[in-house]
Amino acid sequence: MNSPRCRVLLIEDDPSMRGFLRSMMASHGYALTEAGTAADGMAQLAAVSPDLVLLDLGLPDGDGIEVTRRLREWSRTPIIVLSARGQESDKIHALDAGADDYLTKPFSIGELLARIRVALRHAQQSGQATQPPEFALGSVRVDLSLRQVFRDGSEVHLTPTEYKLLTLLFQYAGRVVTHRQLLVQVWGPQFADQSHYLRVYMAQLRHKLEADPTRPRYLRTETGVGYRLKLD
Ligand code: CA
Repeated sequence: MNSPRCRVLLIEDDPSMRGFLRSMMASHGYALTEAGTAADGMAQLAAVSPDLVLLDLGLPDGDGIEVTRRLREWSRTPIIVLSARGQESDKIHALDAGADDYLTKPFSIGELLARIRVALRHAQQSGQATQPPEFALGSVRVDLSLRQVFRDGSEVHLTPTEYKLLTLLFQYAGRVVTHRQLLVQVWGPQFADQSHYLRVYMAQLRHKLEADPTRPRYLRTETGVGYRLKLD
């Protein structure tokens, strides 16, 4: 029972696999949207807001691991990876990057439907709604699906580390994130005590995004604890 019709996005370059899933998914009441490349998949993710993603790992213009990583920057939509034999390490990387489950090709439709039901149930239980793929900090707009930041309509260049720090704070928007959490998640566990990194990078972010970097309105310091992204 899928009511209303559950939207599934299939990112897969193999036309025969797409054809197989198209008819099977339709006959089981799912509304399927298809993308044949990683780039098209990212665009469809933002456009369709699917309830679930079926993701092939080997795509002509990139891999499913990167798609998973990028989607997880702004969305909790369940991802089931479709991997070929011989892609065992890729599959683990995809799970580490935030994929929920995987199926190794060839798989049966019954197996796929069962996995989809489980993933959707988990998503419902966790109650984490998908965030819109952009947010604003005053005159600054951050587009998470394009990974671009604009200030008064002009693009602002952030380094990969600055961007990662900003999107991590956004995931916890309104809540304090500790120095350790930020250092471990942005730089890695071996940097857990390097608080001066944070001071340097937060100063850079404030300089790029805040109207008055000395009195930040959005990128707030929680003295001795960490930082908090305060949205309007
Ligand atoms: Ca493929």
